[in-house]
Amino acid sequence: MENKTYTQVAPGVWGMKIVFVNIYMVATAPGEWVLVDAGLKTGAEKIIKMAEELFGTDVPPSAIILTHGHFDHVGALKELLAKWPVKVYAHPLELPYLTGLSAYPPPDPTAGGGLMTAFSFIYPKGPINISGHVHPLTKDGTVPHMPEWDCIHTPGHSPGHVSLFRPEDKLLIAGDAFVNVKSESLLAVIAQKKELSGPPKYFTPNWLSAAMSVKKLRDLKPEIAATGHGPVIQGDELTQGLGDLANNFQELAMPDNGRYVHEPAKTNRKGVQYLPPARFNTALICTVFVLSAVAVFGLVNKIKSR
Ligand SMILES: [Zn+2]
Ligand SMILES: [Zn+2]
Repeated sequence: MENKTYTQVAPGVWGMKIVFVNIYMVATAPGEWVLVDAGLKTGAEKIIKMAEELFGTDVPPSAIILTHGHFDHVGALKELLAKWPVKVYAHPLELPYLTGLSAYPPPDPTAGGGLMTAFSFIYPKGPINISGHVHPLTKDGTVPHMPEWDCIHTPGHSPGHVSLFRPEDKLLIAGDAFVNVKSESLLAVIAQKKELSGPPKYFTPNWLSAAMSVKKLRDLKPEIAATGHGPVIQGDELTQGLGDLANNFQELAMPDNGRYVHEPAKTNRKGVQYLPPARFNTALICTVFVLSAVAVFGLVNKIKSR
């Protein structure tokens, strides 16, 4: 049997991991489907292949819905839109980062938790510009082309972050409102070690909102959750993990220290309006120093041996 790169999450919903981030495809009617998120830049070919296997060749999605606009969720968009010129929907508060108006608040390499955090200063913070393709989601909680689904505004990780919920089987596409891997740790990410966790620490500029969003999702009592990072989680493991996370958010999810812990980035429909001052990152400076010393040592040895 052919090895598939994607898995079925629930009836009519499939997910695929692109390096370390997930995208989802949702069948919405016979011959119709919607793409949720667009993964990394390198993922376009894989996404097109998955769509062809599931829905046939030349069956574009009815729309693309974005949980949010971080680089790892919109990377393949431009290439996909060249093949499928369809409407993209995002929350109005996410539009500045999708229309070239504003970059996201910078990632916080001082938030701790591992190498993914320490090197987060190199991650792109946008904005991308897909004006002409992107449209605002409406306030009424409906999702275009997905009549069985509700759109839940879950800000904190990003201002216009949304999660998608199908009440019929209590299936949640959570985006990065919470994830199922310790996304700050490179080793955990490589191993895709399951661990229900708060939103990625290095890329979350409003912790109060993030905590409220997790409570909002917990109150929906989801039975299966497909997150932006990490494997699908369901049943008691989900109920227990999400309950613990919501009840002990500060302890389990928030960095001990970090740029946005005491004061959030302030944003509005025009994008970022205020940033708390950057913090001195001792861990990062030490890491760069050690890596540089190793590189210089290697170079000197190479020259000597000539
Ligand atoms: Zn994100
Ligand atoms: Zn993400």
